[in-house]
Amino acid sequence: MNLGPDPENTVYHFWFGEFSLGYGGWLSPTTYQGQKTFRVGLAKNMKHRGQAKELTEKFVARLEQEKIITVKEPKPLYVFGSMIPIGGVIKRTSTANCLLIGDAAGYCGAFAADGIKGSVISGKESAKLIDRYLKGDKAALLQIHQKVDQHGSGLLKYYQRQLRYRFIWDLMKSNRSFQWMFKIIASEKESFLSQFCDSKDRHRSLTRTVLKFRYIPKLIHYSLSIFLDRFRIR
Ligand SMILES: Cc1cc2nc3c(=O)[nH]c(=O)nc-3n(C[C@H](O)[C@H](O)[C@H](O)COP(=O)(O)OP(=O)(O)OC[C@H]3O[C@@H](n4cnc5c(N)ncnc54)[C@H](O)[C@@H]3O)c2cc1C
Repeated sequence: MNLGPDPENTVYHFWFGEFSLGYGGWLSPTTYQGQKTFRVGLAKNMKHRGQAKELTEKFVARLEQEKIITVKEPKPLYVFGSMIPIGGVIKRTSTANCLLIGDAAGYCGAFAADGIKGSVISGKESAKLIDRYLKGDKAALLQIHQKVDQHGSGLLKYYQRQLRYRFIWDLMKSNRSFQWMFKIIASEKESFLSQFCDSKDRHRSLTRTVLKFRYIPKLIHYSLSIFLDRFRIR
């Protein structure tokens, strides 16, 4: 990996062109049997599932072409992929004697695709509710949403905010829109990163981080670009 001052200790997230549609690509360093290598990933929308291999190869080729990586032995050591639920939390995740947790219940950020915390928390809360159910409280399992929402500043509210970000992300169809979004985020780098890292724990909204008076010209360009994307004007 060649990018930046300390590539061996950096994880990169890429937003460019077609690769950004859906979620984006990522790259991180690792070692295998003492040799330097990297992990690379690409997350796209469900409609692209049949093209995962081809798109990932294209993405790696682009990283090589831009000299971000140098591949000496082009042989994948390990390949895996899976679905991430980004449709929001399912309304009804429990019946009297049945309970969905984690990804199955949709406890995953629709924008950030971060399901680990939701799966751990819903698992832990479910264990307590199942215990109560087995001790005779037959309505216990119905409280799962309420229990999950007690974490952080309201985990379910976090997932609702994530649905709004996903809605905007899915409107963006051109590299130009991603560039404009990036320009705003770059101007607000520190607060954006701190918001992004702990937004599940504190009630901080991404919108409030970037919707500031001084960014109005950039926000106008960004909105206009998204508007043009609707008509596929590049
Ligand atoms: C490539 C990728 C990157 C991700 N990166 C992040 C990240 O950086 N941060 C983050 O927070 N989240 C990330 N996620 C999402 C996160 O991994 C999931 O949201 C989380 O693992 C969901 O946990 P879970 O326990 O609900 O489901 P899973 O982890 O999917 O566990 C379900 C288990 O059930 C097993 N199973 C399925 N069917 C059966 C059956 N019939 N009988 C027995 N067992 C069965 C499966 O084998 C699996 O082990 C990522 C997901 C992917 C795919």
